[in-house]
Amino acid sequence: MSVVNVTKDGVFGPGEHDFGGSYVPEGLRKALDKLDAAFQYYKNDEQFEREFDYYLREYIGRPNPLYYAERLTRELGGAKIYLKREDLNHTGAHKINNTVGQVLLAKRMNAGRVIAETGAGQHGVATATVCALFDIPCTIYMGEVDTQRQALNVFRMQMLGAEVIAAKSGNRTLKEAVDEALMDYAENYEDTFYLLGSAVGPHPFPLMVRHFQSVIGREAKRQCLEKEGRLPDLITACVGGGSNAIGLFYPFVDDPAVNIVGVEPAGKGLDSGVHAAPLCTGKPDVIHGFKCYVMEDAENCHSIAAGLDYPGVGPEHSYYKAIGRAEYTSIDDEQALNAFLTLSKTEGIIPALESSHAIAYAMETAPKMDKDQIIIVSLSGRGDKDVAQVFDMLKAREGELQNA
Ligand SMILES: *Cc1c(COP(=O)(O)O)cnc(C)c1O
Repeated sequence: MSVVNVTKDGVFGPGEHDFGGSYVPEGLRKALDKLDAAFQYYKNDEQFEREFDYYLREYIGRPNPLYYAERLTRELGGAKIYLKREDLNHTGAHKINNTVGQVLLAKRMNAGRVIAETGAGQHGVATATVCALFDIPCTIYMGEVDTQRQALNVFRMQMLGAEVIAAKSGNRTLKEAVDEALMDYAENYEDTFYLLGSAVGPHPFPLMVRHFQSVIGREAKRQCLEKEGRLPDLITACVGGGSNAIGLFYPFVDDPAVNIVGVEPAGKGLDSGVHAAPLCTGKPDVIHGFKCYVMEDAENCHSIAAGLDYPGVGPEHSYYKAIGRAEYTSIDDEQALNAFLTLSKTEGIIPALESSHAIAYAMETAPKMDKDQIIIVSLSGRGDKDVAQVFDMLKAREGELQNA
């Protein structure tokens, strides 16, 4: 029996701990029921599975390597560090696994259009990419402030043929983009598919995103057995909404010898309140139609990595924390930046700032472990998108040093 106890309505651990579920108005409920029925059917459909496998292999470039970071391991002098190379996927991150899976479902459901929300633009670009591939009209909602901060990603989406709508209410960032996308979906669900970007949101999204992202952990498990003849001692990943993490974790969840650690962004420090670490500091509550750990002060939500900047977190991570199957810790902006620079110098791999949180945790932990132990880190994406930001931060840091 699995340690993961989840009802058919997507409620994790009903009774003692309950996370997930669906807290939505009637119009959305109908849309989500229809989506759930399609997902339940196609996830067991052989033809669907074959088509998904085809695109994973031929379009995304899977399987990607489980790479032994030998120089980093030697420098740290402890456990062997392996990197699961999601950064080598087409479009440069794990997000494409999920967008390919969902667009195939959209096609099966005869959707006339796809909509999605995006914060920094990464999920918007991954969605626009698969809509170009499958010739489906695509509308991306993005906070107006974010469209200005991430003008290049707006242009990328437009080049890929998507329409980008700037959300102009409230703070004009991710939350408003989600609100407007949900309104669109509730009104148009008969012919519209809402392609959600992480393992969050009302049922069935968390289970569906986990299903498509689990390829990360299935591959990593097989590759580790091939290379080392045994399972890893520790697996770790950064947690924003939690999709790359649940993709790595889920296939190992019933292997009790494998320790699981999720890494949240501590931003400017957990004590400062300026972070995005709901599992480390928050309380169970309802946000965006589902129950999970939620940050105390969502207004202060911040991370050096835009992709981790979310005040809630996936319900399955909330459940793993509650039952003690996984541990959740945090890494602050400064530590993530140092890991970004260290991996670049030691391995010639520039990681995304998001992934750098997991790298930093592995760097901190490996020296405390034995040399024959094994760590697998999800390298969720590549850092090309972050180079200009890091340049500015290092300039500012230099200025501080000169003034000191
Ligand atoms: C979006 C993103 C994340 C965070 O999303 P999860 O759903 O928590 O995985 C992490 N890494 C990269 C590279 C991203 O683009």
